[in-house]
Amino acid sequence: MDRVIIFDTSLRDGEQSPGATYQVEEKLEIARQLARLGVDVIEAGFPISSQGDFEAVRRIASEVDGPVICGLARVYREDVDRAWEAVKGARRPRIHVFVGVSEIHLQYQTRMTREQALEMAVAMVKRAKSYTPDVEFSPMDATRADPAYVVQICKAAVDAGATTLNIADTCGYAYPQEFYNFIKMIRERTLGDRTDVVISVHCHDDLGMATANSLAGVMAGARQVEGCVNGIGERAGNTALEEVIMALHTRHDYFGLTTNIDTAEIYRTSRLISQFTGLLVQPNKAVVGANAFAHESGIHQDGVLKERTTFEIMDPRDVGLPSNQIILGKLSGRAGFRHRLEQLGYRLNKEHFQRAFQRFKDLGDRKKIITDRDLEVIIADEVQSVREAYRLQHVQVTCGDPLIPTATVRVHGPGGETYVETTTGTGPVDAVYKALDQVVHVPNELVEYQVHSVTGGMDAVGEVTVRVASGGHTFVGRGASTDIIVASARAYLNALNKIVAERAATAPQAAHTA
Ligand code: MN
Repeated sequence: MDRVIIFDTSLRDGEQSPGATYQVEEKLEIARQLARLGVDVIEAGFPISSQGDFEAVRRIASEVDGPVICGLARVYREDVDRAWEAVKGARRPRIHVFVGVSEIHLQYQTRMTREQALEMAVAMVKRAKSYTPDVEFSPMDATRADPAYVVQICKAAVDAGATTLNIADTCGYAYPQEFYNFIKMIRERTLGDRTDVVISVHCHDDLGMATANSLAGVMAGARQVEGCVNGIGERAGNTALEEVIMALHTRHDYFGLTTNIDTAEIYRTSRLISQFTGLLVQPNKAVVGANAFAHESGIHQDGVLKERTTFEIMDPRDVGLPSNQIILGKLSGRAGFRHRLEQLGYRLNKEHFQRAFQRFKDLGDRKKIITDRDLEVIIADEVQSVREAYRLQHVQVTCGDPLIPTATVRVHGPGGETYVETTTGTGPVDAVYKALDQVVHVPNELVEYQVHSVTGGMDAVGEVTVRVASGGHTFVGRGASTDIIVASARAYLNALNKIVAERAATAPQAAHTA
């Protein structure tokens, strides 16, 4: 097989990134984008872990077409049954069963003997197999386990019906050459000549080697790579899928392997994940960072202007990177705007288009040059606000020294009512947030506030990301505007809207019937 299966776990392992939590609607939107990107498998969640996770997996399974939809399960009956309930609506459902196999995990985490873990693994793979032919088995922390035991449990899992064996470097402990040998040994000793079982790799980036280890695994015969877009995930994160994809693509001469991925969708997927998790992509991040295709030194710039390939091994268009060229100005009309959106791959419905166009014209009054990045931010803002119960109509502040920072907000409520509130605060953003709190009235705590400029220049669009804690969960809000007070208000109201939606969704039934 000369194709590598791309298994995305941005919605499962990715959600284990500290501070990242998705709303169900956001998970669906990410899953649809992953389908457009062309991933082969979406690990949509860990259904037994919570009602919300179950619901998200169930909806993705029934609403997202294309990829295999996978649910995670420990080696317990209730886990496997719950995973099946969640994924059974998919055209191609997969159950992923895992158990810790290192002595450390067996003793302190799994709390089983080797024999018990093996017995449970076999029983649960069989149980999963009774539901669906597509069963994946993972020995967790395999790289720190006794290799003979890893081989023994993998063999047993294959005999029980597992069709994918996923070798997990759970703690990011392996080194590429070592991992290559390990994968090769496991493949030879568990599968021999069998070609009907896929070897998979699941690497973490604790020592910065997740991509290198994954590719070493591929060289040793693995034909599935697990990871997350932007390399998000537990601790230092998972393998960054875009790096593996572009390595296979760029170095096809070396690997001789392909994927099903439409690479032009990489950048948009990266932005979506970043927006929904609030985890910003570092500028020097490979493939998707803001500087990944920027050339600073005179020699490099001169070279690239003469011939792009002098200093670029990848074409930015191949990853769908929007250009930062002058593309639109305030005099651009509806047709030009629509055309550019289409070129960028956006297909907006009438209402979204209307709102996005209005925002574009407003932005044109304040900013001379409107780049693709600006458009992206406007669209993300408009599309998110369409679903919002509370909409910001007006925000105004007075501040300075010796003035007392004061904010007035006008908000359109869910029932068509209008709220106007005025408050003071320690600064203009604080005053705005207190005023919005008086409108929405949900208990919350602002835990993080970040503002950064989308593009360079004095008239740049500011993008604000906030993280708000409420009821034990974290909610990410974002907003954009050339006016950072407006962007700040939008971001906070976005988070409050998510809290309101979550509370409505989880409210006890009695509250509605009483
Ligand atoms: Mn993991």
